[in-house]
Amino acid sequence: VIVTLIGIVLGTIVMFFAVSKTTKLRNLLLTGSNAKRWKWLIYMMVFFLVGYGASVALVLTNQVQILLIVTGIVFFAGAVFVLLVVMTAKSDIQQIQDSSISLISKNEELEKINTELDLFAYRVSHDLRGPIASIRGLIEIVRYAKSKEESDLCLEKIKSSTVKLEGFIQDILDLSRNSRTEIEVEPVEVRSLITEVMESLKYMDHDHRVELLLSCPQVLVIQTDRLRLKILLTNLVTNAYKYTDLEKTNPRIEVWCVKNPGGFNLSIKDNGIGIKEEYQEKIFEMFFRGTDKSAGTGLGLYVVNEIVLKLKGKIQVKSRLHEGSEFEVNLPNYL
Ligand code: ADP
Repeated sequence: VIVTLIGIVLGTIVMFFAVSKTTKLRNLLLTGSNAKRWKWLIYMMVFFLVGYGASVALVLTNQVQILLIVTGIVFFAGAVFVLLVVMTAKSDIQQIQDSSISLISKNEELEKINTELDLFAYRVSHDLRGPIASIRGLIEIVRYAKSKEESDLCLEKIKSSTVKLEGFIQDILDLSRNSRTEIEVEPVEVRSLITEVMESLKYMDHDHRVELLLSCPQVLVIQTDRLRLKILLTNLVTNAYKYTDLEKTNPRIEVWCVKNPGGFNLSIKDNGIGIKEEYQEKIFEMFFRGTDKSAGTGLGLYVVNEIVLKLKGKIQVKSRLHEGSEFEVNLPNYL
């Protein structure tokens, strides 16, 4: 009897500690989906405490029959309790594991963003300073210009420096808008959007022999983000203009689009200077310029790629040096 009593009393003390520890544990998991289960586990522990108390009373009053029944119930409840603990702990560990995997990938993402931010800050300051310094120098030359031709030439160069600065600022704005804002889906008439982009590029400084061919169904409406699609088109068509091959007799840009079951395909093809094979993987990187013909920022295709990623689409390039390039974009239809 003494041994049984000591056992029950020790069990009660241990269970008491277990209840207080589990309460603390539950407070930690309060926001987790298993918080309710832990609450039930605590109730079961309290039940055990009551069971232990009753057992002590039964031992002291020598009510062996009832004690046996209580022992049976406590044994059964104990097994259920252990099962519940194992199941709850397993699911908690699974959740912790899942969140640590997502933390690792978030961390990698942050490291990438951090490296890009470093590069970005360096390049922004460098690329902004270049045209500004050149404008300042040109202003001095204009001030002391001896002829109208000389000053006109300088003014022309000042203009192209400001255009470059404007383009750079636009790219940065597009980039930050793309990462900051959520996708805004609306029905977009692709053909009229392409025409709008073409119109806006009409005054761009380019070879006016370039022939522009558009092949797109009259009524092609897709559900997507209009502004993002417009930026994407503007950048790709601008590049097709910028990298035309002046040696060719028939510089040409072809834009076509077609609907597919999940979305739509878009292609911007030119017979321009083409891209070296070893550069074709790099052109979507931030600030990558593949030719000394580029007076741009090296951000255009990076912006395009970021937009395609945001819209969960795909982009690929096919190009041959001196023959031309084709950019194929596949975007989903957000229904
Ligand atoms: P940028 O035009 O400002 O240099 P982009 O990111 O738009 O920057 O393009 C990156 C590089 O990819 C360009 O420097 C150029 O070498 C190459 N490229 C892009 N589009 C074309 C094209 N249509 N034809 C030939 N080369 C291209």
